[in-house]
Amino acid sequence: MIFGDQLDLDAPLLQRLDPDRDLILMMEVAEESRHVASHIQRTVLFLSAMRHFADTLSARGFQVRYVTLDDPDNSHHFTTEVERVISEVSPNEVLCTWPGEWRIVREVESWSERLGRPVTILPDDHFITSIEAFSAWAKGRRSLMMEFFYRDQRRRTGYLMRGKPPQPEGGTWNFDSENRRSFGAGGPSPPPPHPPAFARDRITREVVATVRRVLPDLPGRLDEGDTFRWPVTRAQALEALEDFIAHRLANFGPYEDAMWTATPFVYHSVLSPALNLKLLNPRECCEAAIRAYERGDAPLQSVEAFVRQLIGWREFVRGIYWLEGPEYAQRNGLGAHGRLPDFYWSGETDMACMRECLSQVIEGAYGHHIQRLMVTGNFALLSGVHPKAVSDWYLGMFADGIDWVTLPNTLGMVMHADRRQDAAAGVTGLVGTKPYSASGKYIERMSNYCDHCRYDPAHRTGPTACPFTVLYWDFLIRHRDQLSANPRMRMMFRSVDAMSTKTKAQLTIDARALRQRLGVEST
Ligand code: SF4
Repeated sequence: MIFGDQLDLDAPLLQRLDPDRDLILMMEVAEESRHVASHIQRTVLFLSAMRHFADTLSARGFQVRYVTLDDPDNSHHFTTEVERVISEVSPNEVLCTWPGEWRIVREVESWSERLGRPVTILPDDHFITSIEAFSAWAKGRRSLMMEFFYRDQRRRTGYLMRGKPPQPEGGTWNFDSENRRSFGAGGPSPPPPHPPAFARDRITREVVATVRRVLPDLPGRLDEGDTFRWPVTRAQALEALEDFIAHRLANFGPYEDAMWTATPFVYHSVLSPALNLKLLNPRECCEAAIRAYERGDAPLQSVEAFVRQLIGWREFVRGIYWLEGPEYAQRNGLGAHGRLPDFYWSGETDMACMRECLSQVIEGAYGHHIQRLMVTGNFALLSGVHPKAVSDWYLGMFADGIDWVTLPNTLGMVMHADRRQDAAAGVTGLVGTKPYSASGKYIERMSNYCDHCRYDPAHRTGPTACPFTVLYWDFLIRHRDQLSANPRMRMMFRSVDAMSTKTKAQLTIDARALRQRLGVEST
């Protein structure tokens, strides 16, 4: 069995198969687009990439049983589809690769008894660090810091290391302080080159037609053009990687946190969908970037930032996901119970920053990491939306949404919901040591969104009070008891404590009215 996010021709599973004897099963099941509302582009990406992959396997001589979305006998659930095939071919054994979601792991683990035959789950060696290796790394540590995990990853891989004993290239582990540039008043000049889109071939066109017919209510938009944004084959994924290395990597580091109207991709790689479907391997991406540095085509600060995302953050959040178990999804450390406002699905809001970032998601199933963390995520954190509602939205609405990456990024990084007692640092988040809460002033500094907004990020009262700014102060006031002991937040709380009681009371009242007006809270 090969799931839709396991399109890796080098996977151990394929090495074990005998094309003359074994049957590969791949399934398009509607359940996967319905258990959370899945953006039409995300759904098309998965299904088109799966169909291309199945064709490649067939061309290599494998026998593939492929269940399409519009197969009249399709029950649209993995387990019942596996049962259907087993009743026909009665295999001795079922094999698959470790899935990307606890929900599916639990399902697969039930099969052996249900199907009456051995079921073997093979490790996913796409990742540099196995689940077991991450557990061993975490065991006995007083606190789990991404930075220390990342340094160990650098030592293990030898990426950007030099000398004996190996030291970080450039004499430092990171260049974060140099990588927070915003664009000047005139914006990026020249505009950053767009990543490539790919010709919509017969398979993708068929998938689009089928998805529109079978799943007509999916959120998000997909035009009827001749191209599709996301790579659906290994060759296209490699082309996207090459394009990033040649045209955007050099500026990626300095501007990785910058945002600008009508510039959705800035200098980001936009490779996460291809990586998460396993069309690309993180090692080849890192090595391509390092070669560009060695040729003098990209500065160290950009290459290090890219490598950090891949072998640091990406593998760290995956480690946390499997380490913490399925209960992690239920964490709600700040006790947030608000609704996700309707404008997350429509983009219709008078907040220019939210309108820009949400429209981009609806139109393109994409937002870069600062748009996710500091705009759409920051708003959800400040206004008190339930973390699971936010996490489900990120899982379904982004082309790269897979549970192992979306859940810890959303619950941990964005919503600070995974708070726990830490021996070294007191109460802190597991993924992030403090909430990434920020007022409208941060958005003003990092983008031009505020230039086109009816609100003013400096105002916290009156008709032009920026919702981010009002909600930011209210967030600090509401969570003072939970957060003020965190040393990284002391400065913020000094500002709160300097406010008069009357000012704080007014902010609490204004924020409550705002949450009601925006649909987070009922009246
Ligand atoms: Fe967003 Fe506030 Fe700036 Fe408007 S003023 S764009 S709401 S941060």
